[in-house]
Amino acid sequence: MKNWISHLSLAAKLRFMIVYAAGAALLVASTLYITGEVLSLRQSLAEQLVTLARSVAQDESSVNFANRPLAQTILGSLRVDPSVRSVALYDAGGRLFTSVSFADQRHSAAEQFQQRWTGATADGNQTIRFRGLTLAHIQVPVMKSGVVAGSVQVDADLEQLYAQLQRSLELMCLALILAGTVAIFLATRLERVISAPIDELLAVARSISSGQRSKLRALKQSDDEMGTLVDAFNRMLSELERRDLSLRMYQNDLEKMVQERTVRLDAAVAEAREAVARAEGASRAKSEFLARMSHEIRTPMNAVLGMAELLRTSKALDDRQRRYAVTIHQSGAALLSIINDILDYSKMEVGKLELESAPFNVRDVVEDVIETLAERAQSKGLELMCDIAENKGLAVLGDAKRLRQILINLVGNAVKFTQRGEVRVAVRCTPDDLLNSAVTFEVADTGIGIRPENCATIFESFVQEDPSTTRQHGGTGLGLAISKQLVELMGGTIGVSSEPGKGSRFHFSITLAPDPEGRRESDHAAALSGMRILLMEGNANLRRILRKQLTGWDAKVTETDSVRKAIQVLDGSFGGQFDAFVLDSRMPDGDGLDVLTAARKRPEFANTPALIIGSSPAAGPAAEHQPGRRVAWLNKPLRRSELHTTLVSLVAPDLNVTRRLQVISVQNQNETQQLRREPISIGQLLLVEDNPVNQEVALAMLGELGLTAQCACNGEEALEKLAAARYDVVLMDCHMPKLDGYATTRRLRELEGQSGAPRTPVIALTANALSGDAERCLAAGMDGYLSKPFSVDELYVTLKPYERRSPASTRPSDPATPRAAPEAQAAAAGSRSEPAAAGSPLDQQALRQIRSLGKPGGIDLLKRIVDLYVGNSRGLIDSLREAIIRNDPPAVHQAAHSLKSSSANVGATRLTELCAALEATAKTGKLASAWALLDRLVEEHSRVLLALEGETAAA
Ligand code: ADP
Repeated sequence: MKNWISHLSLAAKLRFMIVYAAGAALLVASTLYITGEVLSLRQSLAEQLVTLARSVAQDESSVNFANRPLAQTILGSLRVDPSVRSVALYDAGGRLFTSVSFADQRHSAAEQFQQRWTGATADGNQTIRFRGLTLAHIQVPVMKSGVVAGSVQVDADLEQLYAQLQRSLELMCLALILAGTVAIFLATRLERVISAPIDELLAVARSISSGQRSKLRALKQSDDEMGTLVDAFNRMLSELERRDLSLRMYQNDLEKMVQERTVRLDAAVAEAREAVARAEGASRAKSEFLARMSHEIRTPMNAVLGMAELLRTSKALDDRQRRYAVTIHQSGAALLSIINDILDYSKMEVGKLELESAPFNVRDVVEDVIETLAERAQSKGLELMCDIAENKGLAVLGDAKRLRQILINLVGNAVKFTQRGEVRVAVRCTPDDLLNSAVTFEVADTGIGIRPENCATIFESFVQEDPSTTRQHGGTGLGLAISKQLVELMGGTIGVSSEPGKGSRFHFSITLAPDPEGRRESDHAAALSGMRILLMEGNANLRRILRKQLTGWDAKVTETDSVRKAIQVLDGSFGGQFDAFVLDSRMPDGDGLDVLTAARKRPEFANTPALIIGSSPAAGPAAEHQPGRRVAWLNKPLRRSELHTTLVSLVAPDLNVTRRLQVISVQNQNETQQLRREPISIGQLLLVEDNPVNQEVALAMLGELGLTAQCACNGEEALEKLAAARYDVVLMDCHMPKLDGYATTRRLRELEGQSGAPRTPVIALTANALSGDAERCLAAGMDGYLSKPFSVDELYVTLKPYERRSPASTRPSDPATPRAAPEAQAAAAGSRSEPAAAGSPLDQQALRQIRSLGKPGGIDLLKRIVDLYVGNSRGLIDSLREAIIRNDPPAVHQAAHSLKSSSANVGATRLTELCAALEATAKTGKLASAWALLDRLVEEHSRVLLALEGETAAA
């Protein structure tokens, strides 16, 4: 019901309430009225009966109590009243005298009297009692002489009451219906008084909320609470409108502000973009400018260095003039290194510096760096050493050139800023997971140090610790910035800790993938096992490193740090106590060789093998310590493999020690170490160079090698000359007006393809400084690459593979004779040159030539070249295999070409032929027969390595 009402409209609710209330009131009133009516009617009926009964009671005969029949007759007269059921007469003692019943009265009057009667009214001496609604019992006294002589009692059923009641009910219903109708009518009228203002409010609220706004204010219809409500509602609407208005105004203001700001922001963004574009453009322009400038500088540098080098070696100069030429050359080389730094820096700025990934051994790189800087360190009396503890994880894949650059910079700085003491390079390798090795490099010196506040900024570009030291030592302040960027490119971090006056410790860590095919450092471990060695070394760190290395080979080491103590040890020892001596020649307290002299005086040590560690390349063993007396001499810095090999060859000369092979690049050679060059024979050379100065330099350098060349000033002229005559090698400048070197070579290759002429080797000469140059040259069909400025040695090494073995084999001026391409030369080499030893895959003539180039008493050039070759050729064979798997003909071509050149260098004629065949196959773009060729090539390569091992061991 409640729920049902809650769903009704307000008007209906009001109507319902009014009708409901009116109905309820009417009902109550009617009920009360009817009840009263019934009671008064019953009372009046009862009183009529009383009157009737009194008339009977006052009758003389009836009250005599002598004549019963008479009494009955008198009582029977009450029959006139239809409601009377029975009449009884009682005497004064309450005993029944007689009674008359008029109907099937169930109860006697006496009995009925005994029953409970309600509503008794006693008026003087009469009594009226009711039971139920209609049953009445009336008692009237019978008076005789003023004394109660008995009583008349009447029982009646006042049924006529119902008829009366029915009429009254009918009337009441009629009245109710009438009243209800009036109530509904009035409710309908009245409800409007309440609901109309509410409806009005509702209509306004709806019109406003729907946004139609057809009705903006509610109409006040009365002054009562509803009127007040309407007023309040209207006021509220006005207030809302006012707020709405101010909100809109505020919003408008805000929008305007936002618009203004957006416009300003857009302008700022556009400005910023423009600024960024300008900055990027400027940066690009700057970098391009730097690159161009570097290129432009490198071109005249080519002339400066070339001419200085020619002068330096010229026999026409006296000593002073030669010194001047050497100074010019050294300064030029220093200038070139600065230009290279600037170039690297500009490349990094434009993000053009890319890292290579090739197999290399960390130890090789570190030892090369140490060797490169050894002379500079030794000239300052510094001890330069490397401490590489681990054997595992050093064969890695990465950019060895860039790692070398970082190390050269750090070690170079350490040597530069250290006046006394030592420079130590330590390498630690911790395999961080199955895939990678974290390699940590540390370069520690005992130099001037860096103030702590400068340690953080020292890696920023152009930052130098102290202008006075800069003036003293020179430098651009770019080296550390470049190193930092390179380390970060390799995914590592670099840092420094330093104490002014005590020294600095630069360290960096990089993660390198291990080279699964990399060679392990497997020394001839057993050879030194159990050997008792007396080690004398003045420098504590170097002594520790040497001890570690010796004990690592299972030798038993007795160490001393002075000549005095060493002699004491020898004096106190007995024959056979030491199997070998390792003695530093330069000790703090004297000449280390004094120890050897003292030992030799004792017969039991007269033949004990001794390894003398020298400090300068110029130094050498004195006559009494010359080989033959089981003495070996190794100059610092010591390569681990050299130390091992030399020791083993001393203590076990009969053992055929497989020398571990080191990769040493030509660039690494100290300036003092020059290749011994022999005039080489190349039939006809064409030099394509537009710059007259560079032409002159190149011609002079070629002259230095005993070669002459024809010149062409541009690509077109070169093509004309190449069409008219046959050339054995073309030296091609890349950047020329009209037709540049790349286009010229491409055209030449096309012409060769069309005419079926053999391939003319083209070597690029370029001063281009940007990356990818070598690749561009190769892609254009060139065979080699020489970066300007180049030295006579570099020119020699580059041209050597193209040497004609027999001058008679070709006549340049004879166009009918087929041109000798390198592969053809190589193929012919076996028959023309000295025949290879029976079954040997090597050309002895080539090996002899290499040997003859080495300086007497200097480095073993054959070993170096063989070392170089072994490292490189293995890598190239891997590259070949991978390139064939990838089906990448240009990569096969490149690798085969490189292997061909280097194999020709070491006289591996058959291998050179196979490489040339593979190169030719790759050139066709189809690698179908490549696998078969590779198999033969790998087999031949193994034979070559074995033969080379024999050659170097024999040396
Ligand atoms: P450059 O050496 O060409 O000036 P670098 O970037 O290599 O540039 O070095 C920046 C500066 O850091 C050097 O000028 C020097 O002040 C300081 N520095 C670098 N290495 C060392 C070191 N081992 N000992 C002391 N100072 C060093």
